[in-house]
Amino acid sequence: MDVKALHRLSYGVYVVTSKQGERFNGQIANTVFQISSEPPTVAISINKQNLTHEFIQSSQIFAVSVLAQDAPLSLIGQFGFKSGREVDKFSGIPYKLSPSGLPYLTDHTLAYLEAKVSQSIEVNTHTIFIGTLTDAAVLRPGEPMTYAYYHQVKRGTTPKAAPTFIPATPETVTAAAAPKYRCSICNYIYDPAKGDPERGIEPGTPFEKLPADWTCPICNAGKEAFEQIT
Ligand code: FE
Repeated sequence: MDVKALHRLSYGVYVVTSKQGERFNGQIANTVFQISSEPPTVAISINKQNLTHEFIQSSQIFAVSVLAQDAPLSLIGQFGFKSGREVDKFSGIPYKLSPSGLPYLTDHTLAYLEAKVSQSIEVNTHTIFIGTLTDAAVLRPGEPMTYAYYHQVKRGTTPKAAPTFIPATPETVTAAAAPKYRCSICNYIYDPAKGDPERGIEPGTPFEKLPADWTCPICNAGKEAFEQIT
């Protein structure tokens, strides 16, 4: 069995949010899909270990922000590679509240959905929450971010808690020419040939020439968290 076949499935990139009392949390999810239209119903798959899972179980409501292609890696890193148990993920992030008081992002976001949980199904490490739409709005025109775009164009990575995480194999991490460096926190790979143009690092900049205060575009870890890939 070749689990790489699963890489041929296509997904979007979303921020799923919920709340517990007055506390908000949110996380990146790629598994958000419409189940039926009458009434409009969606499903999401959330890791049981995530704080957002706890909040959805407690409040029985969730919101989905549909990210645009122009969403920066740092935004995905903020919601995808940090835990709401350690940081306030909404710190510095512009958001508005849905009618039920759930936060949804206003920057780099094309649309949002708000849903009330009607069923939850436990599946191994994850729970599928099925929710009836209670509100929805299109915020602006644009292309939604797809998972393929995130991986291929933005060169993003997948955290271990994601439903679609597949452990890296030697061929996915070995590089061709100049030494590449991998973030030990989130697996982001710095490729000197590509640089980090989103933050002003020209293609062709070797890892050693990156400024001392350069940080991982996804998880914000410092240069010391990086290991050379041999
Ligand atoms: Fe990182």
